Amino acid sequence: MKIGLVFGTRPEVIKMAPIYLKAKEMEINVVSIATAQHREMMDMMLKVFSMTPDYDMNIMTENQSLNSVAAKVLVKMGEIIEKEKLDWVFVQGDTTTAMAGAISAFHNGVKVGHVEAGLRSGNLKDPFPEEMNRRVIDQVSDLLFAPTTNSKKNLLKEGFEKDRIIITGNTVVDALYYVQEKFDLDKIRKEHIKEDNYILVTLHRRENWGEKMRKILEGIKEFSKEYGLSIVFPVHLNPKVRKIVKEVLGEYERAILLEPVDYITFLSLLKGARIVASDSGGIQEEAPSFGKFVVVCRNTTERPELIESGYGILAGTEKSSVFKALVKGFDVKVDKTKNPFGDGKASERILNAVI
Ligand code: UDP
Repeated sequence: MKIGLVFGTRPEVIKMAPIYLKAKEMEINVVSIATAQHREMMDMMLKVFSMTPDYDMNIMTENQSLNSVAAKVLVKMGEIIEKEKLDWVFVQGDTTTAMAGAISAFHNGVKVGHVEAGLRSGNLKDPFPEEMNRRVIDQVSDLLFAPTTNSKKNLLKEGFEKDRIIITGNTVVDALYYVQEKFDLDKIRKEHIKEDNYILVTLHRRENWGEKMRKILEGIKEFSKEYGLSIVFPVHLNPKVRKIVKEVLGEYERAILLEPVDYITFLSLLKGARIVASDSGGIQEEAPSFGKFVVVCRNTTERPELIESGYGILAGTEKSSVFKALVKGFDVKVDKTKNPFGDGKASERILNAVI
């Protein structure tokens, strides 16, 4: 049996690497296939897990459109599938890389495994284009690796057959266990940030670009001023994000703006934070393991487990709603022994399912 693992962005590497490493350990034949949809941020993550892709499509161009990414991945993936005679293609999550990778496998009659299947915000255009991507991928997948009971329920509601769905936990928890075991996160954090009292911020979602992001940042800034916390923010490389962050926080003395940091450093910043404000999916899944409360700066979520377990709040995208959510979350104690997203054994369950 030969499995192709497809990834192209930072979170896909983080969530696919544990499967790659586990497959090697179990002596399963895996081929790692990078699209490099986000070149720099993907490469940074590969180093953390000491991975060198067997194939690198290197598709990224300046101002790339979703259509051009999808078209290139569709064609190049088809060629790799034929050459390698893959039995399975695994895609992760909801990127354009994952959607095109899955369709390409489907066109070639190769089985598809969807890692992190069944997440739904309920709004096809939010997050855009991710909600569409994840629905399309689920349709063409032979095995749906649902991270939680809630994601399984979503799939059953849409009529997917029970025996196509396996609850595995999210591989992001496997990834963070891997890093926690190997590195002294407290020491690493102090090498980067001396500050002890800070909000960790990340923002990048397409539907927040523009005015929404400005308002979110103003809410965070106000909280920082009133509660005396610094803002630590590794700023996404997207120029649309960088422009607004610079305008709102560039001159603010309590803001520590960083370049995107590698995964180990990021987890160290997460471990040291007082509270988190983010529109990221992966960070919502990681924060509970470090006992951190997450203020989700969005209007919808496909991860209700966070809110239901009391470990986060859906803050919306207004200045006042973000401020209020931060105030509310500031004193909440999160039980770090209970991560609703996984237990660190997801990769093993996924590989055993295809075996
Ligand atoms: N992350 C990182 N460095 C950073 C910011 C985030 O390694 O500077 C990691 C973080 O731990 C999480 C993942 O990147 O696992 C989230 O990626 P992102 O927010 O870009 O995507 P999403 O999860 O929203 O798809």
